[in-house]
Amino acid sequence: MNPRDTRYDCLFEPLAIGPVTAANRFYQVPHCNGGGYRDPSAVAEMRRIKAEGGWGVIFTEQVELHHSSEITPFIELRLWEDKDVPMLARMADAIHTGDALAGIELAYSGINGPNLYTREIPLAPTALPIRTFTNDPVQARSMTKRDIKNLRRWHRDACIRARDAGYDLICLYGAHGFGAIQHFLSTITNQRSDEYGGSLKNRARLLEELVSEARDAVGDTVGITVRMSLDEANGEYGFSNDDLREMMSLHGDLPDLWDFAHGAWEDCSATSRFKEEAAQESLITGLRELTSKPIVGVGRFTSADTMVRQLKNGILDFIGCARPSIADPWLPRKIDEGRIEDIRECIGCNICVTGDMTMSLSRCTQNPTFMEEWRKGWHPEIIQQRGASETVLVVGAGPAGLEATRALGERGYEVVLAEAKTQTGGRVTLESQLPGLSAWARVRDYRDYQISQMSNVNLYLDNKLTASDILEFGFEHVALATGAHWRKDAVARYHTHAIPNDSSIPTFIPDELMRGAAVPAGKVLVYDDDHYYMGSVLAEQLVAAGNEVILITPASLVAQWTVNTLEQEKIQQRLLALGVDMQPNTALLAINSGKATLSSSLQSQSLQVEFDAVVIVAGRRANDGLWLELLSTEKQWADAGVQSIKCIGDCEAPAPIAWATYAGHRFARELDTELCATNSVVPFRRELVQLSE
Ligand code: ADP
Ligand code: SF4
Repeated sequence: MNPRDTRYDCLFEPLAIGPVTAANRFYQVPHCNGGGYRDPSAVAEMRRIKAEGGWGVIFTEQVELHHSSEITPFIELRLWEDKDVPMLARMADAIHTGDALAGIELAYSGINGPNLYTREIPLAPTALPIRTFTNDPVQARSMTKRDIKNLRRWHRDACIRARDAGYDLICLYGAHGFGAIQHFLSTITNQRSDEYGGSLKNRARLLEELVSEARDAVGDTVGITVRMSLDEANGEYGFSNDDLREMMSLHGDLPDLWDFAHGAWEDCSATSRFKEEAAQESLITGLRELTSKPIVGVGRFTSADTMVRQLKNGILDFIGCARPSIADPWLPRKIDEGRIEDIRECIGCNICVTGDMTMSLSRCTQNPTFMEEWRKGWHPEIIQQRGASETVLVVGAGPAGLEATRALGERGYEVVLAEAKTQTGGRVTLESQLPGLSAWARVRDYRDYQISQMSNVNLYLDNKLTASDILEFGFEHVALATGAHWRKDAVARYHTHAIPNDSSIPTFIPDELMRGAAVPAGKVLVYDDDHYYMGSVLAEQLVAAGNEVILITPASLVAQWTVNTLEQEKIQQRLLALGVDMQPNTALLAINSGKATLSSSLQSQSLQVEFDAVVIVAGRRANDGLWLELLSTEKQWADAGVQSIKCIGDCEAPAPIAWATYAGHRFARELDTELCATNSVVPFRRELVQLSE
């Protein structure tokens, strides 16, 4: 272990937050995880590992503080009554296993909570329709003075419960458009004419009351913080960055710490395709001069140098991280131990966000152990030693093969990784050259470096293996991670059988474009029945090359699945600005005599259009040729000394990159264990509800 680089010393200085003191400047801001009240032990263990990783402050996700405001179907935490305290206490205890302060983020969602579960009438500063991702057909009613009094009491009760659960910091949520404090501050949602509406002073009244009352209730032992919107960026109405500065000149010293985040979650947690590291800096700069209290801000910080710059330049006092703490829960510890090269940097893909948006369980492209810490016992930095066997051959150095190799190497196997190309990375090497996706190369770079440090792992580039090579080598175990390729026949969701194509228009798949195929000048049709990023990214690339681009998709939204990565609107805006002609609800039916037949996916009308080229972004086919050939020789495996051969990642079933790193990790974890042999038991722990009497 190297000593810490003295340049980073300032990140490790303690700092007081009201009555408590954080051991260092690494502040894990609240972040969702798709588990919440359904998987409380899984969430607690995930946070415990961050405590091990050296964070000074670790927060829960948002915690609904009262049953009159909840955000079903999204799964967060709840502190509605005393019954909920043990679940929250489990998390605080887990956080306290390290030196971290435990923080809880209390949210009253108001106009952001449709109350689909409790069926209570939502309460808001002003009666308006509920503001959710799904535009639920529900309205909130205006709060009366009595409602506001109640809300203050509910806050006080929740603060006392939070303290009793063991929390050192209580954060009142007023950012991302998700908390009542922001709804009162913003003229979008607050159109009241009483003392809680109108002037900024009036709109800040609730904030002032809630913070003072929280302090009265628990402030002698617990720090009270506010998560505040930096800018709603909404034109005439809203709560702008100027409003924030004005509000802070009135109430700068109100809470024990200010935690700043963007006015909308989509802006705050933007992907690397749309925002760089430290993207909120201009909105935060100068706020520190308006308060004597510490401030924390976020910005997908993964570079220790950028973090130091934030402190040294007086922009922030604490480095707020959500995604960087997911990708690498041991980030602070690695900086402290002089192991900068070992940091698994977040790539800014927002696959973690999709876990919350789909109410499943979050996963991370870079950290395949995320949310598997409890249910599978997977630790991001510690892995069990190898089992009975010794040698493994991994074929293919894409994300699946690289992660399998890295984790097998760590377990102590003798591993050979064979790659057909002269470079590692597979699809991430190709895709990271596309517009906006350069950060994705980190998936490869982290693993390349780790593997390069292992004497028991050998990498052979430019080695395309055949089935007979593999049997001849006689490794005890073989993982095939040979990837997938895009289909040219347009088969995906709309078409389950190949479309007619007489080749009269040059037709390309993404692989060809990524390998530099020359697309003819002129008008190009991009047909997207994949619905994730590829269609829109290629459209950007084609515009940059000078083509006129028409993007069609059978879905009603362009890049429909990117709603879950918080990118959909941004993608549409960018394509619009680039002059891409977007036609949703449209399918490609055929290519004949120099024309493409397009049809509405809703009605049976079609038209024929001339194009200079067509790019088909549809389904993908697994590169499973090698696997099928080996399978046909299964009887010879034992004689060749081969105990098992397994297909992992895209060559088993194509999916996003996060699925490939997970598959690689899983293969490595399960080798020489019972789980490897059969799938007859549920391969993880589940937390089941207890039936009431
Ligand atoms: P995944 O996402 O599942 O990791 P990728 O397509 O990213 O899949 O990577 C697959 C890798 O496997 C590519 O780098 C490819 O060159 C390599 N590969 C495919 N077939 C062979 C083979 N027969 N021998 C060695 N490498 C192979
Ligand atoms: Fe970062 Fe992507 Fe992991 Fe989220 S899923 S933490 S954005 S690498």
